[in-house]
Amino acid sequence: MIGTKILLVDDEEIFADNMAKLLQSRNYKVTAVYNGESAVKALEKEKFDVVVLDLKMPGMNGIATLKEIKKLGLFTETLLLTGHGSVDAAVEAIRLGAYDFLNKPCDIDDLIEKIEGAGRKKDDAWKKDMEEKLKRAVESPSDAFKLFD
Ligand SMILES: [Mg+2]
Repeated sequence: MIGTKILLVDDEEIFADNMAKLLQSRNYKVTAVYNGESAVKALEKEKFDVVVLDLKMPGMNGIATLKEIKKLGLFTETLLLTGHGSVDAAVEAIRLGAYDFLNKPCDIDDLIEKIEGAGRKKDDAWKKDMEEKLKRAVESPSDAFKLFD
């Protein structure tokens, strides 16, 4: 989807910057950060549709960052970039609520396909939540103002 907002998190700055440029050329809005702490800070400040998260990073790795992202309770989907031999981490990521994972180095078209899927899932979850809130607002108009923040 044109305009999908992506937060790209990877400690290899050159990789992250090049991937950001590639995705921007496909009409995505991309912010690149280089560690998990910066990713969490960015998500606290700004809304993103999809987070593309590197598994292997010094300090907070992808799994630790995913856990923190989940704690924020946002409408955002996370795609983990794993290396070969990271099957356990990939399974753990899915268990923790990641949308999917992809092996690095990844093909740009494969990445875009998964970003699109993640974006759709995020949109569906947001719409479902909004529909439920509207339904409750209709049922109890006096409480409606509490539902939308
Ligand atoms: Mg890395």
